Amino acid sequence: MISISELKTLLATPQKIVITTHHKPDGDAMGSSLGLYAYLIQKGHHVSVITPTDYPDFLQWLPNNSNVIIYTESPEKSLELVNDANLIFCLDFNTLSRINELGEHIRNASALKLMIDHHLEPEDFDDYRHWNINACAAAQLVYDFILNELNDGEFINKDVATCLYTGIMTDSGSFRFPSATSSVYRIAADLIDLGAEHWRIHQLVYDNASENRLRFLGHCLSNKLEILREFNVAIITVTAEELKKYNIVTGDTEGIVNYALSINGIKLAAFIIERTDKVKLSLRSTGDFPANEICKKYFNGGGHRNAAGGASEKNLADTIAEFKSILPEYKTQLLQ
Ligand code: 5GP
Ligand code: MN
Repeated sequence: MISISELKTLLATPQKIVITTHHKPDGDAMGSSLGLYAYLIQKGHHVSVITPTDYPDFLQWLPNNSNVIIYTESPEKSLELVNDANLIFCLDFNTLSRINELGEHIRNASALKLMIDHHLEPEDFDDYRHWNINACAAAQLVYDFILNELNDGEFINKDVATCLYTGIMTDSGSFRFPSATSSVYRIAADLIDLGAEHWRIHQLVYDNASENRLRFLGHCLSNKLEILREFNVAIITVTAEELKKYNIVTGDTEGIVNYALSINGIKLAAFIIERTDKVKLSLRSTGDFPANEICKKYFNGGGHRNAAGGASEKNLADTIAEFKSILPEYKTQLLQ
């Protein structure tokens, strides 16, 4: 491990830096990465943001998005940058398996690895850690890192503020989850003062859906929603055929699980989707119910208590059956 003063000394001269984040990046992954990018380029560093996979259209308006390199689309260029870097920032994830194939390349790279993250149970691959599970977003920790660890608040310009606000807004469910504490609201207010146009950011992220997505959402709610009142659970399941029929692309399924959770009395919602290589589960819960425990124990995944994910090697029907078979074990907690 290196100390913050050692890191500060390193960052005092131009470095070759890679910033990476988890696969299928969401608003916090892209917001924290591009926020840190917009800060570091002002300090004269050579910086690249490399994502393991593509990400939704509704995040592609973020400042400096056009400089992002997608590993699956440019593997050689990505690996060249990873192997040449002095510093690799790992944002919004803490196990290298979350970045697919890129993970082992980063593990083997000679660069120092710097983790900024808010997920449980970090893997021990890093050389510096700014980690706090109470943070509502990695973007909140990037803000804290720049302001309080590097004492560089004056470099939080409009681009940095816009990106970090986006990460905080998306990961806090637009400031409605318990993680959106009064300090988070204060940070949001500071970011607005520093140039984040909150109304425009909200519109660009949430009112930017394709027609396909809306029609697909209608289909999910009308035809694919199953409510298990005996467990206070709601499930939406989607086949690969349906994804094809509605021309669903990355990002179009984001947030659909929240509609299932919005039904009164529902404590746990599941969105189970048949992807080409595996069946993916997204779970959301209310209150103390540990959605991440189910993902970790049964679906090779994890996440936060109220928002977690995992995957299954079984087919869709068997995954749905397995998910339902787990519910009796949690019945008491689900009916509390
Ligand atoms: P989503 O349902 O949006 O895919 O994921 C919700 C949250 O669960 C993410 O923010 C992430 O923290 C976590 N998560 C999703 N999939 C996985 C997974 O496969 N493994 C782990 N460890 N966490 C996951
Ligand atoms: Mn996050």
